[in-house]
Amino acid sequence: MDKKGIYIHIPFCRNKCPYCDFYSRSGGEREYNNYTDMLCKQISAFSENKNIIADTLYFGGGTPTVLGAERITEIIESAKKSFTLNYPETETTVEVNPEKRDIDFGMLFSAGCNRISIGLQSANDKELQFLGRLHDTRDADRCIRSAINAGFNNISLDLMIALPNQTNENLRRSVDFCASHGAKHISAYILKIEEGTVFYKNKDNLDLPDDERTADMYEYLCSLMKEYGYKHYEISNFCITGYESKHNLKYWHDEEYIGFGPSAHSFFRGKRFYRPANFKRCYANEIIPDGSGGDVEEFIMLGLRLLEGITNERFRIRFGYDIPEKYIRRAERFEPVGLTKILDNGFALTERGFMVSNSLIAEILKTTD
Ligand code: SF4
Repeated sequence: MDKKGIYIHIPFCRNKCPYCDFYSRSGGEREYNNYTDMLCKQISAFSENKNIIADTLYFGGGTPTVLGAERITEIIESAKKSFTLNYPETETTVEVNPEKRDIDFGMLFSAGCNRISIGLQSANDKELQFLGRLHDTRDADRCIRSAINAGFNNISLDLMIALPNQTNENLRRSVDFCASHGAKHISAYILKIEEGTVFYKNKDNLDLPDDERTADMYEYLCSLMKEYGYKHYEISNFCITGYESKHNLKYWHDEEYIGFGPSAHSFFRGKRFYRPANFKRCYANEIIPDGSGGDVEEFIMLGLRLLEGITNERFRIRFGYDIPEKYIRRAERFEPVGLTKILDNGFALTERGFMVSNSLIAEILKTTD
């Protein structure tokens, strides 16, 4: 049977963080109801697809919990009617922001959610203030504890690095906070100043670390994670072995998924398409084709984000032949400078290679030698 991931975008946030360019806005109860109805309708349009096993279901945002646990339960119930979800195997993640108010983790757990991804960002209150977050470290502590008390064991925490005045010691405290709260997974993103954000308007006054300092921080973070027992498995992702994000692995393994909600992308039956980042057009069920997916270059480009890299085993399962020699030859050129490694059964980027992954992958995939 066909296995797919399901992504559900919840485009509401209580507040817009100054660095964020995700599609999200504030909303009210009526809008949350309408939005939930729309999602359920669009999901039920897939009801003739009961032969699809959804082995991952991911609520991202935005801030999904702004909808409340009841509406999230409603959406999960409608997914159960349209796809085959096998609990407890189906990894069901909800992104959460620590808040002053309580989140009904008990109801989320009863609905089938078994993974919580919390936007911690930092365990330093000054850094949280800089990032315009609504929570402080005590709120984060309370949020994690109440998720654990409700039965969640698989908790992922997000961190941000390369913040102004962020020291190695601050970084260590944030990682220590994650480990001491039992995080099974940590995503650590380098702060990027995206166009259209408040930070972008103000970028000349931000005093961000330069590229060299950012690279040093990333290397330090990788070493810290190792020290705390986290395996580095993707450029920005670390976990206790066995707790990799199954949903995100689908993206990096170039496997198929179906997305719902404005700005959600899909890769389904060999085609890529997305829903516009616009409420009105999304309510009108508009879908924009985005070409075919899953060719050799795409498979390599996405797979090189993983520390395991591209293996012959995976390549053969997908394409029926071994990795073409030309890609291995190109990757080999960067091995003496420590940016790639050639393995018995494939090739991969190193942690140093991750820092320049875009240009490195472009070199490996270029059309002429
Ligand atoms: S809470 Fe998350 S999605 Fe919402 S504005 Fe902040 S960073 Fe963006």
